[in-house]
Amino acid sequence: MTTATLFNFSYDPATGRNSLPAPPGVRRILIVGGGTAGWMTALILARSLIEKGVEITLLESPIVPIIGVGEGSTPWLRGFFDSLAIEESEWMPACHATYKCGITFDGWSTRPGFERYFHPFASMLDNLTLKQFIHNVEARVNGANLYAHPDRFFIAARLAAERRAPKSPENFPFDIWHGYHFDAVLLGQYLHKKALERGVRYQNGHVTHASLDESGAIASVSTREGETLTADLFVDCSGFAGLLIDQALRTPFVSFASNLFNDAAVAIPSPIPDSIPSDTVSTALRHGWAWKIPLTSRFGNGYVYSSRFCSADDAETELRQHLGLMDADVPARHLKMKIGRVTRHWNKNCLAVGLAQGFIEPLEATALLFIQQTAARFVEFLERGDLGEEAQERFNHGVNEHFEGTRDYIVTHYKTNTRQDTEYWRANAANLNLSDDLKTLYSLWMAGKSIAPAVGEQVLGKGYPVFSWYSIMAGMGIFPDREALRAPTASEARFSLEEIDNLLKRSCANYPDHRQALGHIPPRRAEPTLQVYFG
Ligand SMILES: Cc1cc2nc3c(=O)[nH]c(=O)nc-3n(C[C@H](O)[C@H](O)[C@H](O)COP(=O)(O)OP(=O)(O)OC[C@H]3O[C@@H](n4cnc5c(N)ncnc54)[C@H](O)[C@@H]3O)c2cc1C
Repeated sequence: MTTATLFNFSYDPATGRNSLPAPPGVRRILIVGGGTAGWMTALILARSLIEKGVEITLLESPIVPIIGVGEGSTPWLRGFFDSLAIEESEWMPACHATYKCGITFDGWSTRPGFERYFHPFASMLDNLTLKQFIHNVEARVNGANLYAHPDRFFIAARLAAERRAPKSPENFPFDIWHGYHFDAVLLGQYLHKKALERGVRYQNGHVTHASLDESGAIASVSTREGETLTADLFVDCSGFAGLLIDQALRTPFVSFASNLFNDAAVAIPSPIPDSIPSDTVSTALRHGWAWKIPLTSRFGNGYVYSSRFCSADDAETELRQHLGLMDADVPARHLKMKIGRVTRHWNKNCLAVGLAQGFIEPLEATALLFIQQTAARFVEFLERGDLGEEAQERFNHGVNEHFEGTRDYIVTHYKTNTRQDTEYWRANAANLNLSDDLKTLYSLWMAGKSIAPAVGEQVLGKGYPVFSWYSIMAGMGIFPDREALRAPTASEARFSLEEIDNLLKRSCANYPDHRQALGHIPPRRAEPTLQVYFG
């Protein structure tokens, strides 16, 4: 029997807090940068360390703005707020936030019947249908003419289709591990306020210089305002600038440019109607893809593209056409992206978090998860007083595996595309810069074998769980051509789609309209741990 949980990392509200003293030699921590990474890290560190007498200061430049994009999350953001005992009813309205059931991918595949699919967040209800999904997918890969598109098997896809919120009422026992959409600037301001309330100190100052000690570690940073700040630990949250991890420590950077071509984006907001969707939509365009993220106040939209294939002007025009905003007087923001990761996220006495440590294009909205995991994992090492060379190696290895597994999942969106309309899409499909793990996974799939054990054993599983891999491969329609399919055997056709439809339809009716749910966000309740199995 193959058993797989839907998620690789379990969230435990008890971690990041114990009564042990802070490790000797860690009395002052200086975080450089006040974007989402800086404030999330400040709050995660503060929760564990302030009561142990550690002083945490966040230093932010008065002249460099935050990146101000990044408006979708994975379900793990819920664990972040829960661990800080911050209620949805408090932070969501303050950040114009909405619930997210998952991501709709539109126009990535041209295979008939697979032009659109949904990558769902998991639900306990999926325990009842996941087995049937995997069974049908594997039978279809082996030539049986069975229904195997993911959307009919997952409650989150249905909730999104009906614009319902993934919030079950008190008397309905099935939890959904949902994500959020939010205004990035408001979230930054909210976290800033919360961090100050919890004892983090704040200072304005533009860093111009870092001094190293004789061991090559950071001794101090100096600001344009004439101050020199020392600390025991430095956290680099300075964004793509990588002031400490890159400019001061010269930590090598591993570029993912040969795997993932996109390196630029343009963003434009648009009005939102009364009825608010509960999914992100990712639509494939000529040289990349457009995001559409619903907030309570507006849609956030953007086009992520490759500057090798498309100019900034052409990208803006295509996005405006896509949004029907050709004549609208709404300014666009153009951004550059550096895709890859540093080799050592924790290097000497410096931890890099957020864009400073690396970035994978935002197709699955994973950046905040990296921030959260990097900071939370670092706290675990601090809590144990595990700060030596060998601990750093282990820490960096874990973060790197998470990066590689996530990269490979993102690569799969491009590698499996069948669009022929531009050189961009053809080059992506033809790209042979694939990790060995990814090559193994594709060969198993093409040979009609289960990919579950390989995902579990490989780095791939460190990025995405088994059901996500089945969802993407099936959602993109990676099956034998329709004409080549044969009638299923009785054993292959043993699951009734009608039963699944009825079950999910009945369940769906218990979840509220999204807009209504946003008007009445209930206080937190004891949430059961979400574990979903198939076997
Ligand atoms: C197009 C795009 C879309 C994205 N979409 C998503 C998404 O949907 N979901 C998701 O999770 N993530 C997304 N991200 C990533 C997300 O935006 C970032 O991970 C997140 O905002 C954290 O950024 P940061 O705090 O690392 O950097 P920034 O926001 O750039 O903050 C850098 C900070 O460093 C400070 N600083 C810089 N230089 C100095 C200096 N010399 N002295 C002192 N301070 C300095 C700045 O003042 C600022 O406060 C997206 C990114 C891009 C580019």
